[in-house]
Amino acid sequence: MDLYECEKCKDRGYIYHSETNSCEICECEERKIYERILEKSGISEQFRKKGFKEFETKTEFQKTAKTIAIDFVKNFKDIENTRNSSIAFLGNCGAGKTHLSIAIANNLMAKNIGVLYMPYRECITRIKQVIIDDIEYNRIVNKYKNARVLLIDDFAKGKITESDINIMFEIINYRYLNQKTIILSSELTQDRLLDFDEAVGSRIIEMCRGRIVEALGIENNYRLGGNKNEI
Ligand SMILES: [Zn+2]
Repeated sequence: MDLYECEKCKDRGYIYHSETNSCEICECEERKIYERILEKSGISEQFRKKGFKEFETKTEFQKTAKTIAIDFVKNFKDIENTRNSSIAFLGNCGAGKTHLSIAIANNLMAKNIGVLYMPYRECITRIKQVIIDDIEYNRIVNKYKNARVLLIDDFAKGKITESDINIMFEIINYRYLNQKTIILSSELTQDRLLDFDEAVGSRIIEMCRGRIVEALGIENNYRLGGNKNEI
């Protein structure tokens, strides 16, 4: 058994550098904040149950999606902070997109990498409620802009308004420019992602290039999107 939950800071939450006599907040602190948010929202238990082991792979979509998800976790530290450090599961419902997204989050969290969970519809509704309160609006939106990793679950679900698009553009564009990772699940296909909004959709596609798995039809056939040689 490991002596500490975080070997890097020995659970102090900060790292002391004697050569410069300075302290640095440890990466595990961000992870702990996001775990507390999950606990407060009452979904942390459901969340924890969703690992790669529990993910059934009956269809081609599920097999491919799982392989890409596991590779993504394995290679995360090498691809982080690059233009291409995100992943998306698109298309048909019931294909397990949310499960896989959460499994990625759990596995990154186990490595002390903070993943902020953003259930799209609930969050966008909450943000719109505070849209005329600058301070509160920025407090919430900045959280989604700056999280080390952001999991956007069920993106673009429900009726889409102009202000939904503006809010999502603000968040996605910031993360795009700053090379920050998103994990995205959505019932939209790639084409419909562009219909949602071309600026938002094209940025998501570029960020996730090579790691967009799209479930098609009831058999959950799949296609890989954003590749040069698209299937
Ligand atoms: Zn630490």
